[in-house]
Amino acid sequence: MKVLAIGAHPDDIELLCAGTLALYRKRGDEVTICHACNGNKGSLEYSSEEIARIRRKEAIASAGVIGARSIWGGFADGEVVVDLKSRVQVIDIIRQSDPDLIITHSPGDYHSDHINISKLVFEATYLACIKLWETNYPGTSKIPALYYMDTLAGVNFIPNEYVDISETIGDKVSMMLKMESQLGFLKEMHNTDAAEFIRTVAKYRGFQAGVPHAEAFTQQKMYPKGLTKRILP
Ligand SMILES: [Zn+2]
Repeated sequence: MKVLAIGAHPDDIELLCAGTLALYRKRGDEVTICHACNGNKGSLEYSSEEIARIRRKEAIASAGVIGARSIWGGFADGEVVVDLKSRVQVIDIIRQSDPDLIITHSPGDYHSDHINISKLVFEATYLACIKLWETNYPGTSKIPALYYMDTLAGVNFIPNEYVDISETIGDKVSMMLKMESQLGFLKEMHNTDAAEFIRTVAKYRGFQAGVPHAEAFTQQKMYPKGLTKRILP
């Protein structure tokens, strides 16, 4: 199976669904992680250009922990708006991997980039397969299933599927720790220790699902992608 995870900023996928991606890799599936934005506002010490460069390297190293491919979606931080140009950009993100499954932000998350990426991915999931919509990449071969990952700290999110990540919680933390430039930034901006955050949320979702550690999802139901079998690990 080919899995594409699209997060707004370099660290969102790592915080919200990396345990599930690690499980896909363990069973031999192909995983692409796309950070839509370059992370160029995420620093209190570097310039925009410097931090974008640093975060691209960190994103590649983080994906490397589980042998996933890392791509950048071509947006800058805080500049994701829902318009035609952005829609084409997201169609091309999807066309680059022709996925069976896409995981992205919940429409109810906290940051405008997250909310707008969610909307754009929803639109592009269908449109990417329309051959006459010509972009830089050929149309996809199918309409993928679409899942929304948990929000930051689970705010505004009622899951309807859980994935037991007890086996990959260590990989998830290791992936986040590769985002070195963000560890101090998260502490300073949000008083959040990234590893503690990951373990606490996974434990909390784990309680809901009756396992030690879990990640939470909802499926975007749409014609004609109703599932007759479980697609999450
Ligand atoms: Zn983000």
